[in-house]
Amino acid sequence: MPRPRTVIVGAGIVGLSTAYFLAREGRDVTVLDREEPGEGASCGNAGLLSIGHYPLTRPGASWRGLKWMFDRNAPLFIRPRPDADLISWLWSFHRHCNQAWLDRCMRELCAMGFPTLRLLEEILEAEGIDCDYRRDGWLDVVMDPANLPKAEHEARTLVPHGYSYDVLTGEELRRRSPCFTPEVAGAVWHRDSAHCHPADLLLGLAAACARHGVDLRFSVEVAGIERDALGRAAGVHSSRGEVVEGTEVVLAAGVWSGALAQSVGLDIPMQGARGYHVQLEGVPQLPFTGCVLHETFVAVTPMRDQLRLAGTLEIQPLGRPWMRNRLAMLPAGARRYLTGIDQGRVVAEWAGYRPCTSDGMPVIGAVPGTPGAYVGTGHAMMGMTLGPVTGRVLADMVLGRTPVLELPMADPSRYLAEPGVPLPAGAAGGVGAAGA
Ligand SMILES: Cc1cc2nc3c(=O)[nH]c(=O)nc-3n(C[C@H](O)[C@H](O)[C@H](O)COP(=O)(O)OP(=O)(O)OC[C@H]3O[C@@H](n4cnc5c(N)ncnc54)[C@H](O)[C@@H]3O)c2cc1C
Repeated sequence: MPRPRTVIVGAGIVGLSTAYFLAREGRDVTVLDREEPGEGASCGNAGLLSIGHYPLTRPGASWRGLKWMFDRNAPLFIRPRPDADLISWLWSFHRHCNQAWLDRCMRELCAMGFPTLRLLEEILEAEGIDCDYRRDGWLDVVMDPANLPKAEHEARTLVPHGYSYDVLTGEELRRRSPCFTPEVAGAVWHRDSAHCHPADLLLGLAAACARHGVDLRFSVEVAGIERDALGRAAGVHSSRGEVVEGTEVVLAAGVWSGALAQSVGLDIPMQGARGYHVQLEGVPQLPFTGCVLHETFVAVTPMRDQLRLAGTLEIQPLGRPWMRNRLAMLPAGARRYLTGIDQGRVVAEWAGYRPCTSDGMPVIGAVPGTPGAYVGTGHAMMGMTLGPVTGRVLADMVLGRTPVLELPMADPSRYLAEPGVPLPAGAAGGVGAAGA
C-alpha cells in the first residue's frame, strides 16, 4: 500500500491552512497552485479578521444590488448580461436575502469565529510568523448619526453568540486616533476581532508548510481530478498532462473551485466578486485598528506603517480589465473620514476575487459520491477570517476524525448535481420563513 498523500488544489488561506494541519499530523501533502505565492485574494484582501461578520445574504441586499445594477460607481456593481448562470445565481441569492436565513447562517458563522482566531494564534506562535497580527477589534465607522443605531443593532445581534462591542462617540474616536475627521459621528467597535498583514501571514504559512514537509508546487494549473476504477479520488492532472497521485484531493481553488468541482458532481452556484486595494505609504497618522467606513463600505487597515484601502464588489465575468473608476472609489470613499489620505504615496494597487455562493455560506466538507474528494471554498468576504478553522475541519475529515466543528449549513451535498438526491437538514434547500 502506498503511503496516503493528500493533494490540495490552491495555495490560498484555505489550501495552506488545510495543508498545515495535515502536515503537522504527519500526513504527506502536495499543494498545487497555478500562480506564484503572494498574488491571490488571500494576500490582497483587507486583512480584517472580523469574526461574526454578516454574510452577503442580508435582508434587502438583493434589492439594493438590483438598484445599483446600472451604476458603475455603486459599492456593488453587477454587469448586466444574458448569462444563465448569473441569472440563476441572482435568483437564488435573492431567495436567501431574508432574516430567517441570516439567523441560521449566523449561528454557524458565529460558532466558527472564536475557534478560527484561536487556531490562527496557535499557528503564529508555534511558527514564529510575524504578520503584524493585532487582536484589537474592528471599527464600523459612521459618518451620518442616523446610521449609528443600525450599526449598533448589528453588533447587538452578535451578543447572544458571545461577542462584545462598544459604541464610541466621534470625540472618543478622535481621542484614540486623531486622524478621524470632525465629520465622523462615531463608531461601533467590534472588540473580539483582529487584523493582520495578509500577505505576510500567507507567505509565513507557506514557509511553515514547507518546514513541515509539504511539497509546494507553484505555476502548475490543475485541469481535472483523477478517479480510480471504484470512483475514488486518486489525484489530479495538470493542464500539461502531468498526473499528481494522491489518496485524497482537496479543492481549495477559491472562485475557480466551481469548474473543478463539476468533475466530481458538484454544481456550486459561484460568482467572483472582484474587489481592489490601494496601499498607501506616508499617511501621517493611522487609525488604531482596522475599520469599515459605514456609508462607503471601504475597509481601512493599518499594516505596519502603511495603510490599505480595500473594497468594492464587482460581479462580472472573471478576468475582465480593471475598472479604474472603482479603484478610485477607495481613496474617494476614505477622504471624508480620515485626514492625510492624499498625503499618502500609492505603493501598490491590486484586484482579486471573493468566491461568493448564492446562499452566502461557504462550502466545506466531503464530496458525496466521490470518496476521498473534499472541497473548501465560497467564503466570499470572510475567507481570510475563516480560513484557519476551515483548514482544521477539512484536515480532521481527511484524517477520519470527528471535525472540530459540525458545519451542516456548509455541507457540499447541498450542491450535488444529480437530481433526486435529498438535501441535508439545515442546508440551502430551505430558505427560511421569509424566503420568496
Ligand atoms: C478586496 C477584498 C478584500 C477582502 N477583505 C477581506 C477581509 O478583510 N477579511 C476576510 O476574512 N476576507 C476578506 N476578503 C475575502 C478573502 O480574501 C477570500 O475569501 C479568501 O482569500 C479566499 O481564500 P481561498 O483560499 O478560498 O481562495 P484564494 O485565496 O483565491 O486561493 C485560491 C488559489 O487557487 C489557485 N487556483 C485556482 N484555480 C487553480 C487551478 N486550476 N490549478 C491550480 N491552482 C488554482 C489560485 O491561483 C489561488 O492562489 C477580501 C477579498 C477581497 C477581494
